[in-house]
Amino acid sequence: MAKKQFKTESKRLLDLMINSIYTHREIFLRELISNASDAIDKIYYKALTDESISFDKDSYYIKVVTDKANRILRISDTGIGMTKEELDDNLGVIAKSGSLAFKKEVELKDGHDIIGQFGVGFYSAFMVSDTVTVISKAYGSDDAYKWQSGGVDGYTIEPCEKDTVGTDVILKIKENTEDEKYDEYLEEYRLKAIIKKYSDFVRYPIKMDITGKRLKEGSEKEYEDYKEEQTVNSMVPIWKRNKNELTKEDYEDFYSEKHYGFDKPIKYIHISVDGVVSYNAILFIPEKMPFDFYTKEYEKGLELYSKGVMIMNKCPDLLPDYFSFVKGLVDSEDLSLNISREILQHDRQLKLIAKNIKNKIKSELENLLKNERDKYGEFYKAFGRQLKYGIYSEYGSNKETLQDLLMFYSSKEKKPVTLEEYVSRMPEEQKYIYYAAGESNERIEKLPQAELISDKGYEILYFTDDVDEFSVKMMMTYKDKEFRSVSSSDLGIEIEEKKSLSDTEEKGNKELFEHMKSILSGKVKDVKASVRLKNHPVCLSTEGELTIEMEKVLNSMPNSPEIKADKVLEINTDHEVFKSLKEAYENDKEKLNLYTNLLYNQALLIEGLPIGDPVEFTNNICKIMK
Ligand code: ADP
Repeated sequence: MAKKQFKTESKRLLDLMINSIYTHREIFLRELISNASDAIDKIYYKALTDESISFDKDSYYIKVVTDKANRILRISDTGIGMTKEELDDNLGVIAKSGSLAFKKEVELKDGHDIIGQFGVGFYSAFMVSDTVTVISKAYGSDDAYKWQSGGVDGYTIEPCEKDTVGTDVILKIKENTEDEKYDEYLEEYRLKAIIKKYSDFVRYPIKMDITGKRLKEGSEKEYEDYKEEQTVNSMVPIWKRNKNELTKEDYEDFYSEKHYGFDKPIKYIHISVDGVVSYNAILFIPEKMPFDFYTKEYEKGLELYSKGVMIMNKCPDLLPDYFSFVKGLVDSEDLSLNISREILQHDRQLKLIAKNIKNKIKSELENLLKNERDKYGEFYKAFGRQLKYGIYSEYGSNKETLQDLLMFYSSKEKKPVTLEEYVSRMPEEQKYIYYAAGESNERIEKLPQAELISDKGYEILYFTDDVDEFSVKMMMTYKDKEFRSVSSSDLGIEIEEKKSLSDTEEKGNKELFEHMKSILSGKVKDVKASVRLKNHPVCLSTEGELTIEMEKVLNSMPNSPEIKADKVLEINTDHEVFKSLKEAYENDKEKLNLYTNLLYNQALLIEGLPIGDPVEFTNNICKIMK
């Protein structure tokens, strides 16, 4: 019999398939089962709508059978079948398959190669088989035909015998090679797992003959072999079920069945949308941060299903980075099964779904914050940082989405508060949203720079995460209020008149500070009298945008150029120490040198910054004690 040739395009695709461009060969089974399911859909619909056909629900199924000895894997369906012409058209010419319409769509966009343009379909069978045989009998036809191909060299079609309507796809599984194991596609347990993974929710039963050993009836130690037909898939996906019929436990079970996490989800979201784009989704917000969350290994994404068939394990385009902790899946009727990752990114439907999902997550988090503050607190402990990164990245363009989900520890409330709460409590004359950055709440509590703001009765937000200051810098304002560090040189506060100094006093102080500045040359930008200190003798403040905490963060990054904030050493002129400074300036410049360095180092310590020479510092203290 003369071999028919595949059309050129098909040939190229076949080449690619056989040489496996796809890392996951196992998906061939998903493709074949999905084709089978589609074929059953067609006849099922006919049976449901045409009264002349008797309808028996049990007669629609898919069966997967293995014959290890002969390396045969067979996938049979009771679907609509194919005529001789259809076998020729559908399996011989890729241009006739559903992929074409799809291809037309993407041809408009340049730069995609053929691999990206086609999804995988029937041809994926060649990833694991030497020969593929399709035996089919079409609905309404008396004849059956056999299509057979060993790959690129073409295919044959001939008449054959088949009793029932439907299709058998018979794969002769490849021999193992050094690098590739194909045996696994003949193993019951493996096939079962693949079906569970990708096709669990196919609407029709997928049956397998499962063999095993079991206790003989009535016996306690005697075993017997058994073989029984089992339905491997669960058929009704939880996301397609009615929310009212489902319990919290159902969702939690699903969460662990799916291996989304070892914890229990803090919140689940079940979405059913019928509209411009229709989809069902189940989303989970985990309680605990996955151990690899901040590593390169962590991949964000949701599982993506098209009509109950899984098409992607982790579709990253469904989640923005700042919600990367969300787990779950999306199932849509509007997505093509044969869609490749490259194309999916540009898919309009998918973009709509992603936007929808983003808004839903946002509003659910807002609800959690409003109604279950403690739970939200837990969530925020685990993932708050991610939200803050979200504000910082993309030049602050996600500010609107995220700003009301932020919380910071409050000096007044002694617990995390939202910006909204902060602003609503601000006294009228307060200009800025004040914050203090540091390693921990305890340390910030003791920051001398905060004294003035605290004395004013203003609330201070404590920033203990690296990213905090960077995020608010990116935000610029919240409800038109600017953020201001308590260490900033300009606090925007009317300072009550200090006791006025005589001109000579003022001049004397100025000279002293100039001198101290020259002692600390290269270390500080200025030395000046402090308006903010009450009890402490010294502190550091900064001029300009860059604060000391930001300096710390930036310098802790690998390969960063050394970055310095413009530091100002502030001296409390009401403090006893100031008198000693003045005295030393008049009488003993050596001593002034010593004092200045000591004070500077103290200020560094308060900031949690390393001091240049700790040994010298301690020696200097001893010197004074003597
Ligand atoms: P797609 O599924 O995207 O159309 P495939 O290459 O997987 O692409 O299949 C090509 C065509 O072959 C299908 O559209 C369908 O018409 C036909 N086909 C494949 N498998 C079966 C089957 N088991 N029963 C009936 N028709 C099938």
